[in-house]
Amino acid sequence: MQEQTNRVAIVTGASRGIGAAIAERLAADGLTVVINYAGDVASAEKLARSIEQKGGRALTARADVSDPEAVARLFDAAEAAFGGVDVLVNNAGILQVAALADTSDAEFDRHFAINTRGTFNTLREAARRMRKGGRIVNFSSTTLALNLPGYAVYNATKAAVEAMTHVFAKELRGRDITVNAVAPGPVATDLFLSGKSDELVAQFARMPPLERLGQPDDIANVVAFLVGSGAGWINGQVLRANGGLA
Ligand code: NAP
Repeated sequence: MQEQTNRVAIVTGASRGIGAAIAERLAADGLTVVINYAGDVASAEKLARSIEQKGGRALTARADVSDPEAVARLFDAAEAAFGGVDVLVNNAGILQVAALADTSDAEFDRHFAINTRGTFNTLREAARRMRKGGRIVNFSSTTLALNLPGYAVYNATKAAVEAMTHVFAKELRGRDITVNAVAPGPVATDLFLSGKSDELVAQFARMPPLERLGQPDDIANVVAFLVGSGAGWINGQVLRANGGLA
């Protein structure tokens, strides 16, 4: 499908996991993709080469989303290479499961810096620069609906993302830009799997009525829909993609 040729998408945190699947899918749909990453340059470059081998257009751009200047440079790089930005997918995020009482000040700050401020930084840049007709997809989490112990700080960062999603959609009135969020359930990536026993992973996999973990492509499909031509009337919404878990 080449209908979206010439649209330029920045995908944050696209070196691995869900972000990599999104970059691959959007490139296959004909978008030019900017693969943002924080540290894993090898994975980001490998993904870019693989997209190019399939006939797509991709650029890698290192930027810590929690750093506003780095985020401005990320948009600069996209504009310099491709002339503008039409799609922003705010996928970069971290999760450290820990009881609130055991969470250090540094971990609290790190979660808010990347998950919340990172999203704020790119949204503010998008407000200044995104082209008419643009699409923004933020990342929340179904954990917000589950209220499981250990997720207080992570959920707080994602609740803030949902709050910004609803308000920002209205602030962009007149620009023909939609702002939505996806809230995945458990997806088989490093973020979810690391630190969990096989037994705990299996327990999570049994929770949705569809009785499996999500795969990165399940979420990439949802993002592709939200940035595609069929979703133009969806705005300011949070879409829980979780196999019916909550
Ligand atoms: P992941 O496999 O751990 O990948 C995280 C990605 O984010 C990597 O590409 C990483 O880049 C990047 N990243 C981390 N810190 C960054 C920073 N400061 N600046 C820029 N990029 C940064 O995670 P994932 O599971 O794909 O999660 C993606 C999103 O989905 C997150 O927002 C997460 O909260 C959300 N989510 C995930 C699940 C799940 O079960 N997996 C469920 C609900 C929501 P490097 O490789 O360079 O470090």
